[in-house]
Amino acid sequence: MSSLKPPPLRDDCFALPAGVEWAPVDQALAFLRERLTPQVGVEVVDLKDSLGRILAEPVIATRSNPPEANSAVDGYGFAYECLGEGDQTLPLVAGRSAAGVPFYDVVPKGYAVRILTGAAVPEGVNTVILQEDVTLGEGRIAFRAGIRRGANTRRAGEDVMAGVKALETGRKLTPADLALMAAVGVREVSVRLLLRVAILSTGDELAEVGELAKPGQIYDANRPMLLAMLDKFGHVGIDMGRAPDDRGALAELLDKAAAQADVIITSGGASAGDEDHVSALLQDAGAMALWRIAIKPGRPLLLGMWREKPVFGLPGNPVAALVCALIFARPAMGLLAGEGWAEPQGYDLEAAFEKRKKPGRREFLRARVRDGKVEVFASEGSGRISGLSWAEGLVELDDSEQNIRPGDRVRFYPWGSYGL
Ligand code: AMP
Ligand code: MG
Repeated sequence: MSSLKPPPLRDDCFALPAGVEWAPVDQALAFLRERLTPQVGVEVVDLKDSLGRILAEPVIATRSNPPEANSAVDGYGFAYECLGEGDQTLPLVAGRSAAGVPFYDVVPKGYAVRILTGAAVPEGVNTVILQEDVTLGEGRIAFRAGIRRGANTRRAGEDVMAGVKALETGRKLTPADLALMAAVGVREVSVRLLLRVAILSTGDELAEVGELAKPGQIYDANRPMLLAMLDKFGHVGIDMGRAPDDRGALAELLDKAAAQADVIITSGGASAGDEDHVSALLQDAGAMALWRIAIKPGRPLLLGMWREKPVFGLPGNPVAALVCALIFARPAMGLLAGEGWAEPQGYDLEAAFEKRKKPGRREFLRARVRDGKVEVFASEGSGRISGLSWAEGLVELDDSEQNIRPGDRVRFYPWGSYGL
């Protein structure tokens, strides 16, 4: 079952306000956040098929967890009120309460009943003593004074009450969420259809992995990287191959991509040079904004619309392509997929490096943590793919002037914070 498609984005949704020349990163992110809405429909799936899917509606608990009061331990249950002063002796009733096989009678005042972990607490019982804390014999138990009222029992609904919201719209379901939904009696959930993302590379210099590269050619490194990233994000990557630096061929490929996908991601050809055909085409289509974002590495980032589908035009350099994909395309795709805006979690850690930077733009460095300190890759060159592979995350240096010395605190984002 799939519902109506949500309304498409407006053609001018990426237009920058007049006068914006160099958008600071935060402003660019705020624009995206404001303007993008979910672009995928809704379907109902079984709980067992819902891992990684995005909730289209909140999940309401249909029963409480636990559904009734139960015992947290193996032991003996009784009414606390029947205890006297000092050490205790209580006669046992016949029978027991086990998980799934409750004791159906009322436990009379002054009696105890054998009870096992997870077993319903019978009527007449409100307190359980651990079996290790009693001596047992002649149909009785004896134990020392000092037990608390309600000890070793779990109240009905103490975890989740029936009728409350157990999970929010936009939640990307985790294995633990599946446990929670099962526990509160949910069998199926309403989730967003998967976001389909077309990936295409541009450039006459690109050779396909597996082909023999001709002189002057380089292998297309961005496409396998971007497709793998989409996998990690939980979207459906559609491999559209490569477009040569030819406007007609590129337009044809964009048409094909728009017909199959909800979003298009290109890499390369996004600046304003002679062979930057992605920006030229989107410019002609009248639905393009070249966002000059004050970020290193990563400019220029191109945002546009092609046949009602949003296009993220990433820079060609693999390092810049990855940074732009993580900083801009990832949260934007989260909105399009119905997940909402995901703020990556950063950690302030000690730097093991020195770095000076000018004010006016944000910088991201390839980084990793060793012995609790942040190291950065030796070169900042944006063609250094080996540095991406070396890194285990990024360091973010804010827009201000910086003069970082070893021991200063810097903000580190592990790949995992970006969903990788
Ligand atoms: P462009 O943005 O098209 O000017 O490309 C910038 C740089 O990135 C150039 O050195 C390109 O050769 C390189 N480049 C573009 N696309 C890719 C790709 N898919 N894989 C590896 N390098 C690329
Ligand atoms: Mg190019």
